[in-house]
Amino acid sequence: MGEIDKSLFLRYVFRDMGGFVARNVGNVRQVLSELALDMLDFTFPRTCVVCGDLLIRQEFDVCYSCYFELPFSVYGLSKDNPICRGLAGRVPLEMGYFLLDYRRNSGVSRMMKAIKYEGAETLAVRLGKEMGERIIHDRGDPNFSHFAVIPMHPSKLRKRGYNQALRLAEGIKEMLIGELIPDLFLQPNKSITQTKKNRAERLIASESKYLINPKYLGFNFNHLCLIDDVMTTGSTIESCLKSCLQLDDIGIDRVSVMTAACVL
Ligand SMILES: [Zn+2]
Repeated sequence: MGEIDKSLFLRYVFRDMGGFVARNVGNVRQVLSELALDMLDFTFPRTCVVCGDLLIRQEFDVCYSCYFELPFSVYGLSKDNPICRGLAGRVPLEMGYFLLDYRRNSGVSRMMKAIKYEGAETLAVRLGKEMGERIIHDRGDPNFSHFAVIPMHPSKLRKRGYNQALRLAEGIKEMLIGELIPDLFLQPNKSITQTKKNRAERLIASESKYLINPKYLGFNFNHLCLIDDVMTTGSTIESCLKSCLQLDDIGIDRVSVMTAACVL
């Protein structure tokens, strides 16, 4: 091969290689990102929060086999469900919905523990999305006007770094219409003395362990949905909702409750 032939040959080779890379840039990127994910899984193995087995790349937080064994609620949006029954006569509810049956020492209790104490924030967001998806599939969007969450005590929040109810709400909010107000309810700070509290705060202090954030006094909420991780006796939810339902300074037309799990 002469000098001219060789340079022509190399030029064709590089042109073809360039064309191949340009045509397959998406595939090359995908292969590289999959390799990076494999390396990441190898270096920092991810495990199922329920059974502890290693997760495959397509699984997140819970492995497929544990996920399909989860006791999903059979109540859907039926009015005759444990949340509505549990709060009957205590708080007037428009709707009560929960995703999973909660039992002690079960896969669900391990998931809730991971969400609450072990930093499984993404699992909370995923469960929230699942709740929203199932509600839309069951009956369509309930058109909440606002979402609120059970507040976490500031010292716990500092320690854990996040409020699991808020992460759930963020997932729900991705699927359902409504404005998320993370700071509607507050846990009373013991350092606030009685004299420093405003009228609304004094009014509810004796009735509830929660306070309405004063910046929302005067607001009207058409349909408020309160979100928490687990409902046991319902006393936390009742206390929180009563803090606003008993106030004249805030308007709430309808109230609903959604939790990731409910003790049956
Ligand atoms: Zn598992």
